[in-house]
Amino acid sequence: MMSAQSLRGVVPRLQRVFGSLLPPHQGAARLSPCCVGPELCIASKVSMSTERNQNDGSKRKVSTAKPERTAHRGNTGSSFSLFTAGAARKRAEFTKGQMGDTLGDDAPAVTKVSKTAIPIKPLSIDEWKKLKAEGYNKTRFEVSMMEKLLSTRADVDVAKSLLVFVTMETGTVEYELLLKYLALCVQKQQLSEVLDLYVILNSRFKVLDVGAYSLFISGFSKTDHWRQAVMFLDSIKKMITPSPRNYGDIIISALWHKEVETAWRLFKEMEGKNLKPNEDTLLAFFDCGKSFCDDQYENKMMYILSYLRDNQIYPGEQLMHSIHSWFESIPGNSWEGHVTTILHSGECQVCNTVLESIQLSEEEYNLLRKHVMNDIIQGTDVFKKTTPQELQHFQTFVQNRLPFDVVIDGLNVANITAKGNQSRILLDVVSHLARQNLRLLVLGRKHMLRGTASWNKGHMAVIQKCADCFFTENISEDDPFLLYATMHSGNHCKFLSRDLMRDHKACLSDKNTRRLFFKWQRGHQLVLSRYNPGHKMKFEIIPKYDTIVQTTNNTWHIPYDEEGVERCSYEIPRKWLCLQRHN
Ligand SMILES: [Zn+2]
Repeated sequence: MMSAQSLRGVVPRLQRVFGSLLPPHQGAARLSPCCVGPELCIASKVSMSTERNQNDGSKRKVSTAKPERTAHRGNTGSSFSLFTAGAARKRAEFTKGQMGDTLGDDAPAVTKVSKTAIPIKPLSIDEWKKLKAEGYNKTRFEVSMMEKLLSTRADVDVAKSLLVFVTMETGTVEYELLLKYLALCVQKQQLSEVLDLYVILNSRFKVLDVGAYSLFISGFSKTDHWRQAVMFLDSIKKMITPSPRNYGDIIISALWHKEVETAWRLFKEMEGKNLKPNEDTLLAFFDCGKSFCDDQYENKMMYILSYLRDNQIYPGEQLMHSIHSWFESIPGNSWEGHVTTILHSGECQVCNTVLESIQLSEEEYNLLRKHVMNDIIQGTDVFKKTTPQELQHFQTFVQNRLPFDVVIDGLNVANITAKGNQSRILLDVVSHLARQNLRLLVLGRKHMLRGTASWNKGHMAVIQKCADCFFTENISEDDPFLLYATMHSGNHCKFLSRDLMRDHKACLSDKNTRRLFFKWQRGHQLVLSRYNPGHKMKFEIIPKYDTIVQTTNNTWHIPYDEEGVERCSYEIPRKWLCLQRHN
C-alpha cells in the first residue's frame, strides 16, 4: 500500500504552483498514471458527485442517436405492447404531438450564460485581479470561477493559474477550492496532479469528506497506486455506504491488474449491501475475462449472469457484445452466439429453444397472492381511500361467487377513447368477452348507475346481465379491488385495465415479490389495443414467455437494451442474445 510518506517526494511539484508563477506542468515521470488499457479510459466515466443515482438501473438513458422506433414487424408481430421498451416514450411523443408540440432531443438546457468571462488560457496574477474586479460576486469569486472551469471542462493549467492567484492574494487555499480543483483534475484525467493533491490534502486536513475520497478513488484507480483506493473506500464506509461508482472504479482497476480476487470480494460486498453494479463494472468482468481461462473464473461469470437474472437487470448493447465475445472466447470454441428475437410462441428464432413460461408456478403464485393481500389490499394507504366496511362487503361478494375468468376495470375501459359514450364502450367490451363464455366481473362506481348522458341505464342493465358487477362508493380506489378479485379467483384469472399498477408494485415489501408481481402482471393483464365503436376490438397479445436472463443446459438467453431505445422501469427489452453450446 502506498502511504502518504511515499508520495512526499512529489509534493514540491504542486507546491511550486502555490509559490511561483505558472510553472509548466511537470509531466508524470515519477508517478506514472498509465497502467490501464485504453478501453478502460473509455469505459470508466468520471463521476463528480459522490452519490450518483443508485436506483437508476431500470431506467436507461441513451443520449446518442435519436431513437428510431419503428415497431418491429415480422414474426414477432406488433411488438409494441404496454411493456415493450420504448412504448412509454412513444406514448409521450404521441401525447406531445397531439398537443401540437414536438419532442426535442434530450439535449441539456442551454447553459446559463455566464456574466463573467471564463478564461481559456492561464492568466497572470494581474489578469486575475482585473477579472475579479470586474466580477459581480467578489466574495466567492474564486470558488464560483473554479466551478465554471469544472463545468466547462477547462484546461487544468487555467485552474492552476487561479490557484496561484489565490495563494498570492490570501496566502492559502481553502479546502473547498482544492476539492473543486481535484474534481477538475479527475475529470481531465490529470492523474499525477491527483496524486499530488492527495499528499497536500492529507497533510493539511485530518479528515477528508466523502466527496474527496470518491474523487481520489476515481483518480487513484487509474494509476499504479490503485490499491490505495481500497483504503479510501474503507474511509467512506466509516461515514456512509459507498456508491456503486466507488466500488466500480476499484473493481475495474483490479480486473485490469488481474487481481480477480479483490474484484470479486468487492463485487460480493456490493451485493451484500444491495448496491447495483454499474454497467461498466459488469462490462469489465467480461472484457477482462478473455485473458483468464480457468473454471473458477468461468463460474464467477455464470454467477454474474444469475445475478442479472435474480435482479432483473438487462445488459445494454455494449455489455451484451462483451458477454457474447467472452462466451466465444471460452477454450474449445463450443459456444456460439447470435442476436435474436423471440416468436410469440416463446421460441427462439435462432436455436428453437422454448423460453421460460410467463406463468407463475403454483408456489410463486401463492407467495405473490399472500403478499398482494397483505401489502396492497390491507395496506394502510388503501384504507384511506376506502372504508373497512366496503372492503369487507366486497370480499364477501367475491368469496360467495365462483372464480372469475376476467376482472374488468369498468371506468378505465370506458375511458379508453373520447369518442362514443362510456357505457356503450363498456357494453361492447363486456359483450365481446361474454360471447367467449368467460365469467366476468365488472368493477365500477355507484355514479355509473345514475343514468346520465355518458352512462345509459339501458346499457348498464345489459352489462349486469352479462357479468357480475360491483359498484363502489365514488371515492374508492378501484385497483385494490381489481387485484383482490383477480388474485382470489386464481392463477387463470386475467384483468382488463390499462393501468400500469406501478404504485401497487412499489407497495410490495421485497424485491422478489415485486419481480413476481411484474411477471404476473405481464402474464395476466389484458389491454385493449384497438377499439372503434361498431368495429372489431383487439387486445394486446399476452406473451407466453418471460423476458429475463435464462439458461438451460446448453443455452443462455439474455434480453438486452438496444442502443437508442429508452426503456422505462416497467418495460421490457425485445432483443435477445442467444448463446448455444455445441457438444
Ligand atoms: Zn436461442
